[in-house]
Amino acid sequence: MPDQRPEHSAEQSPFELAEGDPFGPHTLPYGVFSTADEPARRRIGVRLGHHVLDVGALPAAVRPPHAELLGAPTLNPLLAAGRPVWREVRAALHTAVTDPAHRAEVAPLLHPLADVTLHLPFEVADYVDFYASEHHATNVGRIFRPDSAALTPNWKHLPIGYHGRSGTVVVTGTPVVRPNGQRKAPADAAPSFGPSARLDIEAEVGFVVGAGSAPNEPVGLNSFRDHVFGVCLVNDWSARDIQAWEYVPLGPFLGKSFATSVSAWITPLDALDEARTTPPARDFPLLPYLDDSAAEPGGIDLRIEVTLNGETISRPPFSAMYWTAAQQLAHMTVNGASLRTGDLFASGTVSGPEPDQLGCLLEVTQGKGPYLKDGDEVTLTAWAPGPDGARIGLGEVTGRILPAPEVRAGADATGHHAP
Ligand code: MN
Repeated sequence: MPDQRPEHSAEQSPFELAEGDPFGPHTLPYGVFSTADEPARRRIGVRLGHHVLDVGALPAAVRPPHAELLGAPTLNPLLAAGRPVWREVRAALHTAVTDPAHRAEVAPLLHPLADVTLHLPFEVADYVDFYASEHHATNVGRIFRPDSAALTPNWKHLPIGYHGRSGTVVVTGTPVVRPNGQRKAPADAAPSFGPSARLDIEAEVGFVVGAGSAPNEPVGLNSFRDHVFGVCLVNDWSARDIQAWEYVPLGPFLGKSFATSVSAWITPLDALDEARTTPPARDFPLLPYLDDSAAEPGGIDLRIEVTLNGETISRPPFSAMYWTAAQQLAHMTVNGASLRTGDLFASGTVSGPEPDQLGCLLEVTQGKGPYLKDGDEVTLTAWAPGPDGARIGLGEVTGRILPAPEVRAGADATGHHAP
C-alpha cells in the first residue's frame, strides 16, 4: 500500500503545503518541542504541514494577543486562559501563517518536524477513561461475560468510566514495556505471575480540559466548549489477562495503568466545527442532565486508522460513539466533582459496526489472539472533514512494545528474594 502522506521536499517552502495536507492553516494544533541545540528548552509550537512554528518567538509585528501564554514550557497556562483567549490566539496564528505580509518574519521560526523532539504537551491532571462505543461494549461483553447480557443494565443510562493513572500518560513514540502481573484463566487452579501474554491496544480519542470548574458546580452540556480545549489521539494499552482476573468488582486497575500514550499535538475544538455530527439515536430517554436532544450536535466525524507494523488493521469511525464528550463531561461533574486544567478524559475504545472498524485486538481476533508481540509497533492516525474540503488532522500516536522486565526464579515481583 502506498504511503498516503503528502509529498514534501526540503527545498519546498513550508508555506506551500501539498494538496490534502491534514496540517494546513485550518488545523494548527498545539504541541511542545525542543531542538537539538537547546534540548532543555521546551517551547510551544504549532504544526504547519511538516514544520513546527515556534510561536513563543514570534516577532512584535505578528505577535498574537496573550503572547506570554505562548512563551511557557507547557500548554497549561494557555489551557487555563479560557475560550475567548483560545479563539483570539488561534485567529492571530492563522493570520500569521496565511498572510504573505508576515512570511519573512515567520519563515525563520519554522523548524522541520524531523529536526525537533516532541514532548508531552501539557501536565496531565486527572485521567478518566470512558466506555462509550456500543459496538465495543457489546463485543467485549460477549467475550468477557458470555453467559450474561452483553451490555450491563446501566450502559444506556450513563456513560460508564473509571479513573485511570495520569502519572503514566506518555507522549507518542515512548516505548511501552510489557507489564508483568497476576493472571488466572478460568481453568487455572491458581493465579500465576509473569509477563502479560495478552497485551492489547485501545484506539481512543482524548479530550483535554482547559478551564477548570468550581466544586459543586456541574458543567452542563451547553458549557462543554467553555471548558474543553481540544482533542488528541489516545492508545489505552491494555493487558487483557491481568484485566480479566482483576476487574471485578471495581473495574480496570493494573491491566491498564502501566502506560497510556497520547499524541504530541492537541487539536483545538475550534478546528473541528465542520466535523460536528449528530450521535446515534438513543434507545432510552435520558435524565435531563444527559439529554442532548435539544443541544448542539455533540458527535465528531473523526476517521481513525490503526496500523500494526505498518499494515492497516482497522478504520474505526468516531461518529458511531453512543455517548458524546459533552455527556461524559456533564456526567463527570454532576456529583459536584470539580475540573482542573490538564484533566484528560478518553472516549473509550472506538469501534464501529463493521468487522474492519474494531478498535482493539480483543475484538479483531474475537478474544482468541494473537495479541501484541515484543517489537510490534502500533500507530493511530485520524482526520476529520474541515472547511472547503480541507482535512483536519490529529497528531499520530505510536508506540513499540519492549520485553517485560525479567522475573527471576526465587525472587518476588520486585526482585527481592524472600527471607
Ligand atoms: Mn480504554
